[in-house]
Amino acid sequence: MSVRAIRRLLVVLTTTVSAVVTVAAPAVADPVGTPASATPLSAAFDAAAARYDVPRDLLVALAYAESRLDPHGGTASAAGGYGPMHLVSSPGVRTLDEAAALTRLSPAVLRAEPAANVLGAAAVLRSYADQAGLNALTRDDVNGWYVPVARYGGATDASVARLSADTVYDLLRTGFAGPGETVPGRPVAPRRGGLERAAVLGDVGTLSTDYGPAAWAPASTSNYTVASRPGSHPVDRIVIHVTQGSYGGSISWFQNPAARVSAHYTVRSSDGAVTQSVREKDIAWHAGNWTYNTRSIGIEHEGYVDNPAWFTDAMYRASAALTRTLAARYGVPRDRSHIIGHVEVPGATHTDPGPNWNWTYYLQLVNGITGIGSGTVNTESSSLNVRSGPGTGYPVVGSVADGATVAVYCQAVGSTVTGPLGTTAIWNRIGTNRYVSDAYVFTGHDGYIPNVPRC
Ligand SMILES: [Zn+2]
Repeated sequence: MSVRAIRRLLVVLTTTVSAVVTVAAPAVADPVGTPASATPLSAAFDAAAARYDVPRDLLVALAYAESRLDPHGGTASAAGGYGPMHLVSSPGVRTLDEAAALTRLSPAVLRAEPAANVLGAAAVLRSYADQAGLNALTRDDVNGWYVPVARYGGATDASVARLSADTVYDLLRTGFAGPGETVPGRPVAPRRGGLERAAVLGDVGTLSTDYGPAAWAPASTSNYTVASRPGSHPVDRIVIHVTQGSYGGSISWFQNPAARVSAHYTVRSSDGAVTQSVREKDIAWHAGNWTYNTRSIGIEHEGYVDNPAWFTDAMYRASAALTRTLAARYGVPRDRSHIIGHVEVPGATHTDPGPNWNWTYYLQLVNGITGIGSGTVNTESSSLNVRSGPGTGYPVVGSVADGATVAVYCQAVGSTVTGPLGTTAIWNRIGTNRYVSDAYVFTGHDGYIPNVPRC
Protein backbone atom coordinates (compact mmCIF):
# COMPACT_ATOMS: atom_id res chain seq x y z
CA MET A 1 0.00 0.00 0.00
CA SER A 2 1.32 3.43 -0.86
CA VAL A 3 1.98 5.98 1.88
CA ARG A 4 -0.84 8.05 0.43
CA ALA A 5 -3.26 5.10 0.63
CA ILE A 6 -2.19 4.41 4.21
CA ARG A 7 -2.81 8.02 5.10
CA ARG A 8 -6.23 7.94 3.46
CA LEU A 9 -7.11 4.75 5.33
CA LEU A 10 -5.95 6.29 8.59
CA VAL A 11 -8.11 9.35 8.02
CA VAL A 12 -11.11 7.07 7.42
CA LEU A 13 -10.29 5.08 10.54
CA THR A 14 -9.86 8.08 12.79
CA THR A 15 -13.02 9.82 11.60
CA THR A 16 -15.40 6.84 11.56
CA VAL A 17 -14.25 4.82 14.56
CA SER A 18 -13.36 7.90 16.64
CA ALA A 19 -10.13 6.06 17.24
CA VAL A 20 -7.84 8.14 19.41
CA VAL A 21 -5.39 5.30 19.96
CA THR A 22 -2.22 5.43 17.91
CA VAL A 23 -1.86 2.80 15.24
CA ALA A 24 1.13 0.67 16.16
CA ALA A 25 3.15 0.94 12.95
CA PRO A 26 5.63 3.78 13.41
CA ALA A 27 5.42 4.74 9.74
CA VAL A 28 1.83 5.95 10.18
CA ALA A 29 1.91 7.06 13.81
CA ASP A 30 1.70 10.70 12.77
CA PRO A 31 -0.13 11.06 9.46
CA VAL A 32 0.03 14.85 9.51
CA GLY A 33 3.76 15.27 10.12
CA THR A 34 5.70 17.40 7.66
CA PRO A 35 9.28 16.52 6.77
CA ALA A 36 11.68 19.15 8.10
CA SER A 37 13.14 19.92 4.70
CA ALA A 38 9.77 20.46 3.04
CA THR A 39 9.06 24.07 3.97
CA PRO A 40 10.39 27.10 2.08
CA LEU A 41 11.65 28.55 5.36
CA SER A 42 13.77 25.44 6.01
CA ALA A 43 15.41 25.86 2.62
CA ALA A 44 16.01 29.52 3.49
CA PHE A 45 17.78 28.55 6.72
CA ASP A 46 19.95 26.10 4.74
CA ALA A 47 20.89 28.73 2.19
CA ALA A 48 21.51 31.57 4.64
CA ALA A 49 23.56 29.42 7.03
CA ALA A 50 25.74 28.22 4.15
CA ARG A 51 26.22 31.61 2.51
CA TYR A 52 27.16 33.53 5.66
CA ASP A 53 28.61 30.66 7.69
CA VAL A 54 26.23 31.14 10.60
CA PRO A 55 25.30 28.00 12.63
CA ARG A 56 21.95 26.92 11.19
CA ASP A 57 20.40 25.99 14.54
CA LEU A 58 21.32 29.42 15.89
CA LEU A 59 19.43 31.08 13.05
CA VAL A 60 16.40 28.85 13.64
CA ALA A 61 16.47 29.46 17.41
CA LEU A 62 16.63 33.23 16.85
CA ALA A 63 13.68 33.00 14.45
CA TYR A 64 11.76 30.87 16.92
CA ALA A 65 12.40 33.36 19.72
CA GLU A 66 11.34 36.31 17.59
CA SER A 67 8.41 34.92 15.62
CA ARG A 68 7.82 31.20 16.29
CA LEU A 69 8.92 30.95 12.61
CA ASP A 70 5.85 32.90 11.51
CA PRO A 71 6.45 35.61 8.85
CA HIS A 72 3.14 37.34 9.72
CA GLY A 73 2.56 38.18 6.09
CA GLY A 74 5.26 40.83 6.15
CA THR A 75 3.39 43.09 8.59
CA ALA A 76 5.28 45.09 11.21
CA SER A 77 5.65 44.15 14.87
CA ALA A 78 4.93 46.76 17.54
CA ALA A 79 8.63 47.67 17.52
CA GLY A 80 8.78 48.01 13.71
CA GLY A 81 10.25 44.57 13.03
CA TYR A 82 9.50 42.35 10.04
CA GLY A 83 9.50 38.74 9.02
CA PRO A 84 10.53 35.53 10.76
CA MET A 85 13.83 37.14 11.88
CA HIS A 86 12.28 40.41 13.04
CA LEU A 87 14.50 42.76 11.04
CA VAL A 88 13.95 46.25 12.43
CA SER A 89 14.18 49.75 11.06
CA SER A 90 13.50 52.14 13.92
CA PRO A 91 15.40 54.87 15.73
CA GLY A 92 18.23 53.08 17.50
CA VAL A 93 17.74 49.68 15.87
CA ARG A 94 18.72 49.35 12.22
CA THR A 95 19.04 45.64 11.44
CA LEU A 96 16.77 45.95 8.39
CA ASP A 97 18.87 48.77 6.91
CA GLU A 98 22.08 46.91 7.69
CA ALA A 99 20.70 43.79 6.01
CA ALA A 100 19.82 45.82 2.92
CA ALA A 101 23.35 47.24 2.71
CA LEU A 102 25.01 43.85 3.21
CA THR A 103 22.81 41.79 0.85
CA ARG A 104 21.93 44.52 -1.69
CA LEU A 105 18.32 43.39 -1.38
CA SER A 106 15.72 46.13 -1.05
CA PRO A 107 14.11 46.80 2.35
CA ALA A 108 10.74 45.98 0.76
CA VAL A 109 11.95 42.51 -0.24
CA LEU A 110 13.61 41.94 3.16
CA ARG A 111 10.34 42.84 4.89
CA ALA A 112 8.00 40.81 2.71
CA GLU A 113 9.95 37.75 1.51
CA PRO A 114 10.68 35.25 4.31
CA ALA A 115 13.68 33.73 2.52
CA ALA A 116 15.23 37.15 1.96
CA ASN A 117 14.47 38.05 5.56
CA VAL A 118 16.42 35.02 6.80
CA LEU A 119 19.29 35.77 4.45
CA GLY A 120 19.38 39.38 5.63
CA ALA A 121 19.47 38.41 9.28
CA ALA A 122 22.29 35.95 8.63
CA ALA A 123 24.26 38.70 6.89
CA VAL A 124 23.80 41.04 9.85
CA LEU A 125 24.80 38.37 12.37
CA ARG A 126 27.88 37.52 10.31
CA SER A 127 28.95 41.16 10.17
CA TYR A 128 28.54 41.41 13.95
CA ALA A 129 30.53 38.19 14.34
CA ASP A 130 33.34 39.58 12.18
CA GLN A 131 33.42 42.73 14.31
CA ALA A 132 33.48 40.56 17.45
CA GLY A 133 36.56 38.76 16.15
CA LEU A 134 35.08 35.40 15.12
CA ASN A 135 36.87 33.68 12.24
CA ALA A 136 36.55 30.61 10.03
CA LEU A 137 37.80 28.40 12.85
CA THR A 138 35.58 29.78 15.61
CA ARG A 139 32.37 30.41 13.67
CA ASP A 140 31.35 26.74 13.92
CA ASP A 141 30.99 26.98 17.70
CA VAL A 142 27.53 28.24 18.55
CA ASN A 143 28.75 29.40 22.00
CA GLY A 144 30.90 32.11 20.41
CA TRP A 145 27.91 33.88 18.84
CA TYR A 146 26.38 35.24 22.06
CA VAL A 147 27.60 38.82 21.67
CA PRO A 148 26.42 39.09 18.02
CA VAL A 149 23.03 37.63 19.02
CA ALA A 150 22.69 40.08 21.93
CA ARG A 151 23.60 42.99 19.65
CA TYR A 152 21.05 41.82 17.08
CA GLY A 153 18.27 42.20 19.68
CA GLY A 154 19.00 45.94 19.82
CA ALA A 155 18.53 46.42 23.57
CA THR A 156 20.36 49.36 25.15
CA ASP A 157 20.06 48.01 28.70
CA ALA A 158 22.61 45.28 29.44
CA SER A 159 20.14 43.18 31.44
CA VAL A 160 17.60 43.26 28.63
CA ALA A 161 20.28 42.47 26.04
CA ARG A 162 21.24 39.50 28.16
CA LEU A 163 17.59 38.46 28.47
CA SER A 164 17.18 38.42 24.68
CA ALA A 165 20.36 36.45 24.00
CA ASP A 166 19.78 34.05 26.90
CA THR A 167 16.37 33.27 25.38
CA VAL A 168 18.06 32.03 22.21
CA TYR A 169 20.61 29.90 24.09
CA ASP A 170 17.92 28.53 26.42
CA LEU A 171 16.07 27.34 23.30
CA LEU A 172 19.23 25.64 22.03
CA ARG A 173 19.67 23.98 25.42
CA THR A 174 16.11 22.71 25.77
CA GLY A 175 15.43 22.08 22.11
CA PHE A 176 12.24 23.20 20.41
CA ALA A 177 9.91 22.42 17.53
CA GLY A 178 8.21 24.88 15.21
CA PRO A 179 6.55 24.56 11.82
CA GLY A 180 8.86 22.40 9.70
CA GLU A 181 11.77 22.59 12.14
CA THR A 182 12.77 20.42 15.08
CA VAL A 183 15.98 21.32 16.92
CA PRO A 184 16.99 18.83 19.62
CA GLY A 185 18.43 20.13 22.88
CA ARG A 186 22.18 20.18 23.52
CA PRO A 187 24.56 21.41 26.22
CA VAL A 188 25.43 25.07 25.69
CA ALA A 189 27.97 27.32 27.42
CA PRO A 190 27.65 30.72 25.76
CA ARG A 191 30.58 33.10 26.10
CA ARG A 192 28.78 36.27 27.16
CA GLY A 193 31.74 38.63 27.11
CA GLY A 194 30.93 41.86 28.95
CA LEU A 195 27.31 40.77 29.39
CA GLU A 196 28.44 38.05 31.81
CA ARG A 197 28.45 40.79 34.43
CA ALA A 198 25.00 42.15 33.47
CA ALA A 199 22.33 41.57 36.09
CA VAL A 200 19.90 38.79 35.26
CA LEU A 201 16.37 40.21 35.24
CA GLY A 202 14.51 38.85 38.24
CA ASP A 203 17.64 38.42 40.34
CA VAL A 204 18.32 40.55 43.39
CA GLY A 205 18.52 44.21 42.42
CA THR A 206 16.17 43.90 39.47
CA LEU A 207 12.95 43.07 41.29
CA SER A 208 9.69 44.98 41.07
CA THR A 209 8.67 46.81 44.23
CA ASP A 210 4.99 46.73 43.16
CA TYR A 211 4.58 43.01 42.44
CA GLY A 212 6.89 40.52 44.07
CA PRO A 213 7.12 37.89 41.34
CA ALA A 214 8.03 40.47 38.67
CA ALA A 215 11.41 41.70 37.46
CA TRP A 216 11.98 45.44 37.03
CA ALA A 217 13.27 46.92 33.77
CA PRO A 218 12.17 50.56 33.71
CA ALA A 219 10.74 52.11 30.55
CA SER A 220 12.24 55.30 29.15
CA THR A 221 10.81 58.36 30.92
CA SER A 222 9.75 59.53 27.43
CA ASN A 223 7.17 56.76 27.28
CA TYR A 224 4.88 57.27 30.30
CA THR A 225 3.47 59.98 32.57
CA VAL A 226 4.50 60.31 36.18
CA ALA A 227 1.48 60.38 38.53
CA SER A 228 0.52 59.34 42.03
CA ARG A 229 -2.23 56.84 41.47
CA PRO A 230 -4.62 55.85 42.84
CA GLY A 231 -4.64 59.19 44.71
CA SER A 232 -4.50 61.28 41.54
CA HIS A 233 -6.61 58.97 39.37
CA PRO A 234 -8.74 55.98 40.44
CA VAL A 235 -7.75 52.69 38.83
CA ASP A 236 -10.80 50.74 37.69
CA ARG A 237 -9.70 48.86 34.57
CA ILE A 238 -7.10 46.27 33.65
CA VAL A 239 -6.32 46.23 29.93
CA ILE A 240 -5.11 43.02 28.31
CA HIS A 241 -2.69 43.30 25.37
CA VAL A 242 -0.66 41.10 23.08
CA THR A 243 2.78 42.51 22.33
CA GLN A 244 3.07 41.82 18.58
CA GLY A 245 6.70 41.07 19.36
CA SER A 246 8.97 39.06 21.64
CA TYR A 247 9.25 39.46 25.41
CA GLY A 248 12.76 40.91 25.38
CA GLY A 249 12.01 42.96 22.27
CA SER A 250 8.94 44.53 23.89
CA ILE A 251 10.69 45.35 27.16
CA SER A 252 13.52 46.85 25.11
CA TRP A 253 11.07 48.84 22.97
CA PHE A 254 9.58 50.44 26.08
CA GLN A 255 13.13 51.58 26.93
CA ASN A 256 13.54 53.24 23.53
CA PRO A 257 12.67 56.96 23.81
CA ALA A 258 11.29 56.85 20.26
CA ALA A 259 8.64 54.27 21.14
CA ARG A 260 6.12 56.64 22.77
CA VAL A 261 4.40 53.53 24.20
CA SER A 262 4.74 51.42 27.34
CA ALA A 263 2.83 49.02 29.54
CA HIS A 264 3.05 48.35 33.24
CA TYR A 265 3.74 44.63 32.89
CA THR A 266 4.78 42.13 30.21
CA VAL A 267 4.28 38.36 30.59
CA ARG A 268 6.48 35.79 28.82
CA SER A 269 4.95 33.01 26.72
CA SER A 270 7.26 30.12 27.57
CA ASP A 271 7.07 30.18 31.35
CA GLY A 272 4.87 33.08 32.51
CA ALA A 273 7.79 35.21 33.72
CA VAL A 274 6.70 38.81 34.39
CA THR A 275 8.64 42.05 33.94
CA GLN A 276 7.39 45.44 35.08
CA SER A 277 8.35 48.50 33.01
CA VAL A 278 6.23 51.29 34.58
CA ARG A 279 5.30 51.77 38.23
CA GLU A 280 1.61 51.23 38.95
CA LYS A 281 1.35 54.75 40.36
CA ASP A 282 2.40 56.12 36.96
CA ILE A 283 0.37 56.25 33.76
CA ALA A 284 1.65 53.90 31.07
CA TRP A 285 0.84 54.72 27.46
CA HIS A 286 -0.79 51.49 26.32
CA ALA A 287 -4.48 51.98 25.55
CA GLY A 288 -4.31 54.66 22.85
CA ASN A 289 -6.91 56.62 24.86
CA TRP A 290 -5.83 59.09 27.51
CA THR A 291 -8.85 58.59 29.77
CA TYR A 292 -8.38 54.84 29.75
CA ASN A 293 -4.64 55.18 30.26
CA THR A 294 -5.18 57.29 33.37
CA ARG A 295 -7.52 54.78 34.99
CA SER A 296 -5.99 51.43 34.02
CA ILE A 297 -3.11 49.04 34.41
CA GLY A 298 -1.83 47.62 31.12
CA ILE A 299 -0.57 44.04 30.85
CA GLU A 300 1.22 42.89 27.71
CA HIS A 301 1.45 39.22 26.72
CA GLU A 302 4.29 38.00 24.52
CA GLY A 303 3.08 36.91 21.13
CA TYR A 304 1.14 37.81 18.04
CA VAL A 305 -2.65 37.88 17.83
CA ASP A 306 -2.74 35.62 14.78
CA ASN A 307 -0.70 32.73 16.20
CA PRO A 308 -2.18 30.70 19.11
CA ALA A 309 1.16 28.94 19.69
CA TRP A 310 2.15 31.86 21.95
CA PHE A 311 -0.83 31.55 24.31
CA THR A 312 0.44 28.99 26.80
CA ASP A 313 -1.13 27.81 30.03
CA ALA A 314 1.93 29.13 31.88
CA MET A 315 1.32 32.62 30.49
CA TYR A 316 -2.41 32.57 31.22
CA ARG A 317 -1.85 31.42 34.78
CA ALA A 318 0.91 33.92 35.56
CA SER A 319 -1.09 36.77 34.06
CA ALA A 320 -4.24 35.77 35.92
CA ALA A 321 -2.32 35.71 39.20
CA LEU A 322 -1.09 39.26 38.46
CA THR A 323 -4.56 40.50 37.48
CA ARG A 324 -6.05 38.91 40.57
CA THR A 325 -3.54 40.77 42.74
CA LEU A 326 -4.18 44.08 40.94
CA ALA A 327 -7.97 43.65 41.18
CA ALA A 328 -7.70 43.15 44.92
CA ARG A 329 -5.31 46.09 45.35
CA TYR A 330 -7.46 48.63 43.45
CA GLY A 331 -10.92 47.14 43.98
CA VAL A 332 -11.39 46.35 40.30
CA PRO A 333 -14.34 43.97 39.76
CA ARG A 334 -13.15 40.70 38.27
CA ASP A 335 -15.46 40.75 35.27
CA ARG A 336 -15.31 41.50 31.58
CA SER A 337 -16.57 45.06 32.07
CA HIS A 338 -13.42 45.91 34.00
CA ILE A 339 -10.87 43.42 32.70
CA ILE A 340 -10.93 44.32 29.04
CA GLY A 341 -9.01 43.86 25.83
CA HIS A 342 -7.19 46.68 24.09
CA VAL A 343 -9.67 46.21 21.24
CA GLU A 344 -12.50 47.18 23.60
CA VAL A 345 -11.00 50.57 24.46
CA PRO A 346 -13.05 53.31 22.73
CA GLY A 347 -11.28 54.45 19.60
CA ALA A 348 -8.87 51.51 19.66
CA THR A 349 -6.94 50.98 16.45
CA HIS A 350 -5.51 47.70 17.75
CA THR A 351 -7.22 44.30 17.69
CA ASP A 352 -5.35 42.66 20.57
CA PRO A 353 -5.63 40.34 22.36
CA GLY A 354 -7.54 38.90 19.34
CA PRO A 355 -9.64 35.81 18.72
CA ASN A 356 -7.03 33.35 20.01
CA TRP A 357 -7.09 34.81 23.52
CA ASN A 358 -9.34 32.59 25.66
CA TRP A 359 -11.36 34.99 27.83
CA THR A 360 -13.47 32.27 29.45
CA TYR A 361 -10.39 30.44 30.65
CA TYR A 362 -8.64 33.63 31.71
CA LEU A 363 -11.57 34.97 33.77
CA GLN A 364 -11.97 31.63 35.54
CA LEU A 365 -8.31 31.75 36.51
CA VAL A 366 -8.67 35.38 37.64
CA ASN A 367 -11.65 34.34 39.75
CA GLY A 368 -9.74 31.62 41.52
CA ILE A 369 -10.59 28.47 39.59
CA THR A 370 -6.92 27.73 39.37
CA GLY A 371 -6.54 24.02 39.99
CA ILE A 372 -4.45 21.74 37.81
CA GLY A 373 -5.85 18.22 37.71
CA SER A 374 -4.04 15.05 36.92
CA GLY A 375 -4.95 11.73 35.44
CA THR A 376 -3.54 8.39 34.37
CA VAL A 377 -3.71 7.41 30.72
CA ASN A 378 -5.67 4.20 30.32
CA THR A 379 -5.66 2.85 26.78
CA GLU A 380 -5.95 -0.61 25.31
CA SER A 381 -3.04 0.24 23.03
CA SER A 382 0.53 1.25 23.81
CA SER A 383 -0.15 4.96 23.55
CA LEU A 384 -2.80 7.62 23.16
CA ASN A 385 -2.92 10.24 20.43
CA VAL A 386 -2.61 13.85 21.51
CA ARG A 387 -4.53 16.28 19.31
CA SER A 388 -4.25 20.02 18.78
CA GLY A 389 -7.88 20.62 19.77
CA PRO A 390 -10.73 18.97 21.70
CA GLY A 391 -11.93 16.48 19.09
CA THR A 392 -11.00 13.65 16.79
CA GLY A 393 -11.15 16.03 13.84
CA TYR A 394 -8.07 17.93 15.05
CA PRO A 395 -4.58 16.97 13.87
CA VAL A 396 -2.50 14.52 15.90
CA VAL A 397 0.40 16.45 17.45
CA GLY A 398 1.94 13.75 19.63
CA SER A 399 1.21 10.80 21.88
CA VAL A 400 1.40 9.77 25.53
CA ALA A 401 2.19 6.27 26.74
CA ASP A 402 -0.32 4.00 28.42
CA GLY A 403 -0.01 4.40 32.18
CA ALA A 404 1.54 7.87 31.95
CA THR A 405 0.44 10.62 34.34
CA VAL A 406 -0.76 13.80 32.65
CA ALA A 407 -1.47 17.26 34.05
CA VAL A 408 -4.92 18.63 33.22
CA TYR A 409 -4.86 22.44 32.88
CA CYS A 410 -8.48 22.76 31.78
CA GLN A 411 -11.32 20.70 30.36
CA ALA A 412 -13.29 21.35 27.16
CA VAL A 413 -16.35 19.91 25.49
CA GLY A 414 -15.45 18.29 22.18
CA SER A 415 -16.37 15.30 20.08
CA THR A 416 -17.88 12.34 21.91
CA VAL A 417 -15.51 9.41 22.31
CA THR A 418 -15.97 5.92 23.74
CA GLY A 419 -12.93 4.46 25.47
CA PRO A 420 -11.96 2.17 28.34
CA LEU A 421 -13.40 4.65 30.87
CA GLY A 422 -16.78 5.10 29.16
CA THR A 423 -18.35 7.53 26.72
CA THR A 424 -17.74 11.25 27.14
CA ALA A 425 -17.45 14.54 25.25
CA ILE A 426 -14.91 15.93 27.75
CA TRP A 427 -11.39 16.58 26.52
CA ASN A 428 -8.46 17.36 28.81
CA ARG A 429 -5.92 20.03 27.86
CA ILE A 430 -2.58 18.57 28.93
CA GLY A 431 -0.41 21.30 27.43
CA THR A 432 -0.59 24.25 25.07
CA ASN A 433 -2.73 23.16 22.13
CA ARG A 434 -2.52 19.54 23.35
CA TYR A 435 -5.70 17.63 24.16
CA VAL A 436 -6.67 14.02 24.98
CA SER A 437 -10.14 12.52 25.37
CA ASP A 438 -11.27 11.97 28.96
CA ALA A 439 -12.52 8.52 27.86
CA TYR A 440 -8.87 7.45 28.09
CA VAL A 441 -7.78 9.34 31.22
CA PHE A 442 -8.57 8.20 34.76
CA THR A 443 -8.93 11.39 36.82
CA GLY A 444 -10.88 9.98 39.76
CA HIS A 445 -13.95 11.98 38.70
CA ASP A 446 -16.88 11.18 36.48
CA GLY A 447 -17.07 14.28 34.33
CA TYR A 448 -15.37 17.53 35.28
CA ILE A 449 -12.59 17.71 37.87
CA PRO A 450 -13.47 20.16 40.68
CA ASN A 451 -11.54 23.50 40.61
CA VAL A 452 -10.06 22.79 37.18
CA PRO A 453 -11.19 25.49 34.72
CA ARG A 454 -13.14 24.90 31.50
CA CYS A 455 -11.02 25.65 28.49
ZN1 LIG B 1 -2.49 46.52 22.84
